[in-house]
Amino acid sequence: MSVEEKQLLGAYLLWALILVVISLISLAFIYLGWDSMLNQEDYVNGPFYLLMGIAGLGIAGKIAYDMSKMRAQKEEREQKIFTHLECVNCGWKLEREFREGDYVGRVSPNDKCPKCGSSMRVMAIYTRVKEKRA
Ligand SMILES: [Zn+2]
Repeated sequence: MSVEEKQLLGAYLLWALILVVISLISLAFIYLGWDSMLNQEDYVNGPFYLLMGIAGLGIAGKIAYDMSKMRAQKEEREQKIFTHLECVNCGWKLEREFREGDYVGRVSPNDKCPKCGSSMRVMAIYTRVKEKRA
């Protein structure tokens, strides 16, 4: 796990914890409001507590929504590395996902030209951002 992934996981855990705490406090307020109105016939503080609880749940929902959006955006921006190969014999061009050990100028032992069966040379290595959403 990389440092960046650890930081991201830490941020997620922190937000998840905040989410749980806000939800619990909100539920406690809703219970308090409900109890105040029904059992103590307190119609001044009761509705106020209830409102606080509902607002808290709304905030918790918003955080959860933002978190899921953040995760979706991260996946959308995921970069993929590609290797561009060219046949040393006939010049046939091929693109595939980057594999460990690829470097520009290398004659790949694992790639054979689909046209003539000769070896293929790595011409370029590049990243491309995958955008799922327009
Ligand atoms: Zn070829």
